[in-house]
Amino acid sequence: RKSCFRLSTGSKQWDAILNGGFESRSISEVYGEFRCGKTQLAHTLSVVAQLPREEGGGGGKVAWIDTEGTFRPERIVQIAERFKIDPEVANENIIQCRAGNSEHQGSLILELSQYFVTGEYRLLVIDSLMALYRIDFIGRGELAERQQKLGGFLDKLHKIAEEFNIVVFYTNQVQSDPGANALFAGADGRKPVGGHVVAHASTTRVLLRKGRGEERVAKIQDSPDCPEGEATYIITTGGIND
Ligand code: ADP
Ligand code: MG
Repeated sequence: RKSCFRLSTGSKQWDAILNGGFESRSISEVYGEFRCGKTQLAHTLSVVAQLPREEGGGGGKVAWIDTEGTFRPERIVQIAERFKIDPEVANENIIQCRAGNSEHQGSLILELSQYFVTGEYRLLVIDSLMALYRIDFIGRGELAERQQKLGGFLDKLHKIAEEFNIVVFYTNQVQSDPGANALFAGADGRKPVGGHVVAHASTTRVLLRKGRGEERVAKIQDSPDCPEGEATYIITTGGIND
């Protein structure tokens, strides 16, 4: 695994609880309430991924699947300025796809593989994983079909991460009521949406919540090699920071 790298979040505290950042050849998930900074983190990672590895980057390009219409090239410009990357180049290095429905989300992955084979890509963002699945499959009757399709999608993500040495990073929503089936709930009793299929999919999982004032808190829920830890961070014009 010598070519593996870790992608910095932009926050030293957060990187510290991740042993340096989000790992390549692996799937990472952040989940939490609205406005905790999931999309802002995705923007930050998309710029940092372009930095050299000595600087916490991946030295490569980025693919972004946008399911909620929240990707903003203007934010990339601002974050690129912080990291002293040419803002125009920063946006050119991000291939951005807007998924219209869950089926489209799945087919985009196949289309993107044509880019990944170039070996130039180091980060794949899906913001967010479940939004379109939740819209397309409503009610219990459709749950089995949803989970099957979702499982297929997640399998593809694993293969991409492994085959192309990519950081696969997705955001997810938090289940408002974990209910009795809290088997996969974090220590806080809050679990990501998507049921068992999603619960087993990511290698590193981080729960976000609001802290005091402008502060936000990231807490590792699940990781093979990071101790359970908390980090506080803020959202700035230049992206995620301490
Ligand atoms: P989520 O995706 O978790 O719902 P976002 O990543 O969209 O949350 O974060 C939204 C928050 O990010 C806003 O509440 C605001 O505080 C902060 N934010 C967005 N843009 C900027 C900016 N340019 N400068 C500082 N903070 C910002
Ligand atoms: Mg968002």
